[in-house]
Amino acid sequence: MPEKISMGPNNKLQVPNNPTIPFIEGDGIGPDIWKASVRVFDAAVEKAYQGTKKINWLKVLAGEESFQKSGEWMPEATMNAFKEYLVSIKGPLTTPVGGGIRSLNVALRQELDLYVCLRPIKYFEGTPSPMWQPEKVNMVIFRENTEDIYAGIEYMTGTAEANKLRDFLVNELGVKKIRFPETSSLGIKPVSKEGSERLIRSAIQYAIEHKLPSVTLVHKGNIMKFTEGAFKNWGYELAEREFAGDVYTWQQWERTKKESGEAVANEEMKISAIGGKVIIKDAIADNFLQQAMLAPQDYSVIATLNLNGDYISDALAAQVGGIGIAPGANINYLTGHAVFEATHGTAPRFANTNTMNPSSVILSGVMMMEYMGWRDAAELITHAVGKTIRNKTVTIDFYNLMKDATLLKTSEFADEVIRNL
Ligand code: NAD
Repeated sequence: MPEKISMGPNNKLQVPNNPTIPFIEGDGIGPDIWKASVRVFDAAVEKAYQGTKKINWLKVLAGEESFQKSGEWMPEATMNAFKEYLVSIKGPLTTPVGGGIRSLNVALRQELDLYVCLRPIKYFEGTPSPMWQPEKVNMVIFRENTEDIYAGIEYMTGTAEANKLRDFLVNELGVKKIRFPETSSLGIKPVSKEGSERLIRSAIQYAIEHKLPSVTLVHKGNIMKFTEGAFKNWGYELAEREFAGDVYTWQQWERTKKESGEAVANEEMKISAIGGKVIIKDAIADNFLQQAMLAPQDYSVIATLNLNGDYISDALAAQVGGIGIAPGANINYLTGHAVFEATHGTAPRFANTNTMNPSSVILSGVMMMEYMGWRDAAELITHAVGKTIRNKTVTIDFYNLMKDATLLKTSEFADEVIRNL
């Protein structure tokens, strides 16, 4: 009997053996890669649990298919299913062009308050990469998903709203720094203590649970002191307040250095690292982007604001093979709502060609199973994808960059992963 995933006490997800999970196939290449991926999921669950666990897939509509059938891009029934069943998975959706229609992904994130955009950046041996030593790249990005300059509060120059806001800033607050006040569009960047803390708390909890060495707060606090700088400060304060026994912060290190000298501070840091404490540090975003290329082994969990996180996610994804293989999730760890998704778009030119790489959806499913606590099935798939790539049996995106590889269709790649489970 299919049952619902629910949220239990202490924010612990309750997952039955036959959970109903809604899925959206997606537009463009979505149906091709979804059909391939779902076969991998079912085969892995069957293999890991010998029939004692099975996912009951519930198809829900959104995007072009939905618009053609009902005139609605994101029907209420779909939104309700995502709310009711907590955990869901989706392929890419077309962003409708035209006035007044929000991106469907943004609608989902806002409606379910999915405040973490989670992106693991993991290297699979053999994947074509621009890095010299890509095997050193192993990071997990926690990008804040609801605030920042991405909140969508902006006004076009010349509108009554922009004029009113400009006049308020200039006349009431005495702002003199708007270089061209008559022709400026204006945007607002809200960054809250609550919003920063819930994101950073999730990142630290993840690092502790997964026994990872560090959390780096990535920000531009040197320039934007009260938004990005505050994000960093709130992060350090939260770490010391809520995770005192489990973490060691750079600020603690700085304090010890001042009070007792560098040698003592270094010793403290060493003992904490050996004792398995998570090191909490920070990096300015531009420097982080170069360090992530030059010394990726120094970074593990990354917690950052919305705009920085957008750039960082794609830049790091490129280090390990690009968007064909990059999974993602949008999560609210408090309500349990989570939507797992490929990070690429619908690549409409390749719709129904059965040629694209399904790995991003397959690995999003791996993240989903880890989130559900179905680690055995998740590990089976991760190993099988790794073996399939190592064997150089790959889709066109990797084939074009590999020597002596075998070219597979989307569905054949799934067959190969299933064989390698
Ligand atoms: P895209 O990601 O769809 O495609 C860009 C290129 O990346 C493709 O031409 C293809 O060469 C490559 N690519 C993408 N997915 C691949 C895969 N699985 N395997 C191999 N190669 C792959 O980006 P776009 O063309 O800018 O966007 C197309 C549409 O997708 C737009 O409507 C956009 O709004 C939408 N979009 C949706 C999402 C989402 O639903 N999460 C994300 C990004 C873009």
